[in-house]
Amino acid sequence: MKGLSILGSTGSIGRNCLRVIEDFEGDFRVVGLAAGKNIGLLAEQIQRFQPTIVSLSHPSCVEVLQYQLQQLPSKYRPKIVVGGEGLIEVATHPETDLVVSAIVGVTGLLPTFEAIQFGKSIALANKEIMVVAGELVKEAARIKRVEILPVDSEHNAIHQCLRSGKKEEVHRVILTASGGPFRKFSAAQMTTVTPEMALQHPTWSMGNRITIDSATLMNKGFEILEAIWLFGLPVDKVSVLIHPQSTVHSMVEFVDGSVIAQLGLTDMRHPIQYALTYPKREMTKTGVYGARS
Ligand code: NDP
Repeated sequence: MKGLSILGSTGSIGRNCLRVIEDFEGDFRVVGLAAGKNIGLLAEQIQRFQPTIVSLSHPSCVEVLQYQLQQLPSKYRPKIVVGGEGLIEVATHPETDLVVSAIVGVTGLLPTFEAIQFGKSIALANKEIMVVAGELVKEAARIKRVEILPVDSEHNAIHQCLRSGKKEEVHRVILTASGGPFRKFSAAQMTTVTPEMALQHPTWSMGNRITIDSATLMNKGFEILEAIWLFGLPVDKVSVLIHPQSTVHSMVEFVDGSVIAQLGLTDMRHPIQYALTYPKREMTKTGVYGARS
């Protein structure tokens, strides 16, 4: 049974990851969970998955968590750790084989880096880590022979497409982009947009930060950097194609002119499942995941 630690278990990726784990009951054990401020949800996750260790962002949250746990029927109590040190303890726990890195922002960098130092495989959702420290992280992974499996749907697609050729045979990778909710807006219309409008992504359901970054296309800029470091490519081998339907998650063009694409529904459980079960492909007990979640 693979031991997992999930950094950011209360977020959009973290919650989807736990749904995948539920669908593969018996294949994975939740060793560690790390959350920020959503203590109520964390308490429910502790009751359901009984992790060995949980991390909270601030010491003031410990009492709140203990109170929340008392309100629930289960008497199960994990070890509780806090702050940056706590995140590292969760990420490097001896029972952990794979760390799902899904905290938003650079807070996720240090625990993910330390997990690599301890030889843990990484399912990487947090692209900010590759944006700010891609070179360091990849080099550490190379030295420790650690696999970094991308969860970001475009990079996950490229990871799958690359299985049909060698790195030196790649002509370019093509990241697809929906274009976001304002794709057809004029400059005048753009002066009227609100955060609420920007949070209406046309094809994906995600956390707020990444959804806003998708609306401004800043997310695609981050993804170019993520691809450069993840796949060891020069910038001129990474291109972007607007594809509003988001059916093709990304493509790789090889030197012989063949283009391999990965297609799928816009449900983040697909790339999460791929990262969790890699190198195998497995069917869930509930069947193939449906549209939008
Ligand atoms: P969310 O905002 O939904 O969740 C963020 C998670 O990080 C929450 O669990 C939050 O805890 C936790 N967190 C925030 N600050 C801290 C802290 N200081 N210490 C510990 N935990 C903290 O984000 P997403 O799930 O959408 O995104 C997570 C990452 O994955 C991002 O880097 C994003 O770019 C990337 N990504 C997301 C995709 C998606 O579909 N959502 C797709 C591709 C990439 P709490 O809620 O308890 O405060």
